[in-house]
Amino acid sequence: MIRIGPAGIPLSCKDRTNRDGVIYTRNLGLSAMEIQFARGFISEEEAREIKDVAKKCDIELHVHAPYYINLAGDKRNVDIGMEKIRKSAHLAHIMGAKTVATHTGFYGSLSKKETMRRIVKNIRALRNELKKKGVEVPIGIETMGKKAVFGSLDEVVEVCKRVRGVVPVLDIAHIHARGNGCLKEKGDFQKIFDRVADLDLDHYLVHITGVAYNKEGEIYHVPIRKGDIPFIKFMECIIENGYHVTLISESPIVEHDAVYSQILLDRALEMIK
Ligand SMILES: [Zn+2]
Repeated sequence: MIRIGPAGIPLSCKDRTNRDGVIYTRNLGLSAMEIQFARGFISEEEAREIKDVAKKCDIELHVHAPYYINLAGDKRNVDIGMEKIRKSAHLAHIMGAKTVATHTGFYGSLSKKETMRRIVKNIRALRNELKKKGVEVPIGIETMGKKAVFGSLDEVVEVCKRVRGVVPVLDIAHIHARGNGCLKEKGDFQKIFDRVADLDLDHYLVHITGVAYNKEGEIYHVPIRKGDIPFIKFMECIIENGYHVTLISESPIVEHDAVYSQILLDRALEMIK
């Protein structure tokens, strides 16, 4: 099954609440939504409301923790970052969300190895703590687009292997930007899924958007049609393999590109038939 939806409340949704965002997403013919805490957290009561409305509308929910997190930084940074993920995970649990996606940190003056060591240690501690409280929602570690930021596909896979209850979030544009525009053919997309095959996942959370990049990696997101990622080939790859995937549009024209992706998916289905 392939679900598609917006990151956050659709831009053209007049009422700026997550509840209305879910209903609006359903009306657009989409089937998933990522609830974002970039501008602050919601109450537990609102989380329960979102759960009810998402169930009625058959919208699959995911959560994205606030963006600025550095689990490889000093104690203060780590404490603040852990609290952001902890809070996001609790709300995701109440909502019945499938994943709580998060960024993890950056290298700064540390070696890549030391950055990995700290991030694994902190994510593991957090995961154990959440599990004890009955919060089992998987923590999703996102592939990151800037080369100075922790989160190459290899690094994300390693964290997932070392910490139980952690899954990758495959941000296609970030992988493309970090790899100097590496996604050109269907086989390039296949390599991503092959790289995570060891994790034995039965579902993949994927972020999509167009992206502008240079030799340092990602610069900013652009609409899918303004970027150079051949998403139709990505669609062919997931259809041919029968992958169970949720695509979240993080494009600047959020829901437009979610709907556009649905069209690309339908077109790829037609071509394969
Ligand atoms: Zn993200």
